[in-house]
Amino acid sequence: MKRIYLDNAATTPVDERVLKEMLPYFCEKFGNPSAVYTEAHEAKFAIEAARLQVAKAINADPKDVYFTSGGSESDNWALKGVAFKNRAKGNHIITTAIEHHAILHTCEFLEKEGFDITYLPVDDQGLISLDDLKAAIRDDTILVSVMFANNEIGTIEPIEAIANVVKEKGIIFHSDAVQALGNIPIDVKKLNVDMMSFSSHKIYGPKGVGALYIRKGVPIEPLIHGGAQERRRRASTENVAGIVGFGKAAEIASEELEDNMAHLKALRDALIKGVLGKIPQVRLNGHPVKRLPGNANFCFDYIEGESILLSLDLIGVAGSSGSACTSGSLDPSHVLLAIGLPAGVAHGSLRLTIGRHTTMDEIHYVVDNLVEIIERLRKMSPIDAQSPIDDAVYHH
Ligand SMILES: *Cc1c(COP(=O)(O)O)cnc(C)c1O
Repeated sequence: MKRIYLDNAATTPVDERVLKEMLPYFCEKFGNPSAVYTEAHEAKFAIEAARLQVAKAINADPKDVYFTSGGSESDNWALKGVAFKNRAKGNHIITTAIEHHAILHTCEFLEKEGFDITYLPVDDQGLISLDDLKAAIRDDTILVSVMFANNEIGTIEPIEAIANVVKEKGIIFHSDAVQALGNIPIDVKKLNVDMMSFSSHKIYGPKGVGALYIRKGVPIEPLIHGGAQERRRRASTENVAGIVGFGKAAEIASEELEDNMAHLKALRDALIKGVLGKIPQVRLNGHPVKRLPGNANFCFDYIEGESILLSLDLIGVAGSSGSACTSGSLDPSHVLLAIGLPAGVAHGSLRLTIGRHTTMDEIHYVVDNLVEIIERLRKMSPIDAQSPIDDAVYHH
């Protein structure tokens, strides 16, 4: 049975074109990029070519692109690096309640180190309010971090407007754009951001590599100390093959962005229309329009997301209930709670994220089978369909 992969927000397969670019850098062009002979120059040259590819995809100056081990490291570096470097100016940081754990858990760590963190709330579609942001800014605020697009519900935040509010106050602005890259246009100059995080494996590149965009002049401490790599800001011998793969993946993502967006959107809309039209007592989570082109996130009354996932897996479909980081735990997603869902409803969530390789036939197969799965699970549900799990937010 051919599998249907609908968890592209968790990770994507490496594109064949990406793998082909990477292969020579394992056994042939294996030199340490910091050395002075031919093998080293080849590797060094490949890293700089990849830096140019990533920079082009986000309209950055290549000198402002720093390679890291992934989205998590980029987020950690942005927050800890700015927090520790600017402590004399203040110890207040603003972020949102719906960030990825790479941001939220870093903030919890910084709280233990004495920093004061404000977590902005979001509305029932996952958007922060500019008025809340303005009201939260203080004289001692040194950093604001707001994600570009949410990994669970797909909501896209108004990053340019947010950046303008933050920059007007002379505060450093960071955005986690891991889910945005390859899915919506990114122009770091137009968006007016100081720092932005990216990850390779979400855009059909290899795992374990990412980037942090740091605009020239932003005061930041290194996170990894050691050698002089990455302009003395991020030590460790470069993951050359990984960086080469990330560069190629970023190039493909930006060249094919428009076609890919149209493809994802057509399939996503068919999926949402099918599910909302054919299944009773279901709600779409996230913003109806300002959402990632490949993201669909639903809550089904009276059932556990986990049991939907198991049933889907049996018919060859890979989906997710919230995020990869929370599945396996019984806590409802912090994002679904932040948009106001009661814990009982948040447990019945299903995230299906469409990718480059998904077909319309696959979407039809999933919708048709989901109708039966939900009906069957509801019949065996221990949650009494008559008893109200109802809530003002849910039944709007
Ligand atoms: C996947 C993801 C990350 C983490 O990226 P890794 O490369 O897996 O460390 C961070 N933020 C968001 C929004 C993500 O989706």
